[in-house]
Amino acid sequence: MLKSIPKLEDDRTQKLHVIPGKVPCLQEIPVGCRFVERCEYVTSICHEKDPDIKEVSNTHRVKC
Ligand code: SF4
Repeated sequence: MLKSIPKLEDDRTQKLHVIPGKVPCLQEIPVGCRFVERCEYVTSICHEKDPDIKEVSNTHRVKC
């Protein structure tokens, strides 16, 4: 997901990074993390539990 954030210094002729797959239907949100079917870093726990938000600094929080 971080690769999808455009940067001012990026070459504007290049396409933005796209996460493969489709956004899940709201009636069929997967158990666990909602990116479980699309994430290249998926592990077994991702299928069971949506990660909690952790504060890593005064200005940043992460989920996994
Ligand atoms: S919890 Fe993190 S690593 Fe696991 S599927 Fe979701 S985004 Fe990917």
